[in-house]
Amino acid sequence: MNDAMPPDAIAIHRSLLTIDTHIDIPWPTGPDPFEDGPRCVDMPKMRRGGITAGCFAAYVPQAPRSPATEDAAYARATAMLQAINAMGRNQAGFTVRVATTAAEIEAAKRDDVLAVVPAVENGFAIGADLSRIAVLRALGARYMTMTHNGHNALADSSNPRRDLGDRDAEHGGLSALGRAAIAEMNRVGMVVDVAHVSRDSMLQAAETSRTPVLSTHSCVSALCDHPRNMMDWQLDLLRDVGGVIQITAVAAFLRPNAKPDQVTTADFADHIDHAVKRIGIDHVGISSDFDGGGGFSDWRNAGDSANVTAELLRRGYDRDALAKLWGGNFLRVLRIAEEKAG
Ligand SMILES: [Zn+2]
Repeated sequence: MNDAMPPDAIAIHRSLLTIDTHIDIPWPTGPDPFEDGPRCVDMPKMRRGGITAGCFAAYVPQAPRSPATEDAAYARATAMLQAINAMGRNQAGFTVRVATTAAEIEAAKRDDVLAVVPAVENGFAIGADLSRIAVLRALGARYMTMTHNGHNALADSSNPRRDLGDRDAEHGGLSALGRAAIAEMNRVGMVVDVAHVSRDSMLQAAETSRTPVLSTHSCVSALCDHPRNMMDWQLDLLRDVGGVIQITAVAAFLRPNAKPDQVTTADFADHIDHAVKRIGIDHVGISSDFDGGGGFSDWRNAGDSANVTAELLRRGYDRDALAKLWGGNFLRVLRIAEEKAG
């Protein structure tokens, strides 16, 4: 933690239920998450940084689409979800629980234990087989990004993969299968994550989903023009459907072409400020994308997380506002998805 940080910032930070809504895991499985090692997020750093819950993503890279590559992606996603579930154990003095509902995340805070929330990154994980959505959900996945970099059978991506033969747009947003996937995700209570999708895909997903969509890790285009960021009209749409943008700690999304050591929590808070002014405190949250490209000078890893709270306190956010940004809004979206499932 920052030596200059006022003690009340630390106390307020530690009192909050804090959720980092997007974290990657090494694959094949890497350093032990219970040791303070090379990962940006491990249990010692979560505890030190006052993070209650982390959403850990089973990420599958986009590949050329064929039955064989789709089967391989599905196998990888299920194996990664099993590895994420295995993090829910007692080891090295840490109690970690897998939490797959809003109530379970709140219980983890109440009981002062750490929570792991499974997620899936890239709808390519299901290939073209909608029955796989229920299996991923049964393995705990609470949200799934419709795409990663590269179009898939469900939707167009914000970042077409020329090396895979992608044109600017393949489906003009969602495919018919993508719309059916959203209906199935709604049915099983899996939140639709619009991070990584094209602007048309995002618009159509927001309109198609019966429950609020969110971006678990994006920033705002008004401050940094990047295909992964949200235009103001997209922020307005998120507000209109009750969704949330989780501002993320990726340097190149925060300032054009910036390297991590050129970016600070002030840049991060600028994006929070813009989104809050535009669409209100109920529609903005916080994520790191740690171990997947996130992190900058004074938020290098989960252990530094109180620096974000300190910067937001300096800007006038009170405890209630911080509670919404750090997880309250995300929990609302989870809860609505739970209520409307079935
Ligand atoms: Zn991502």
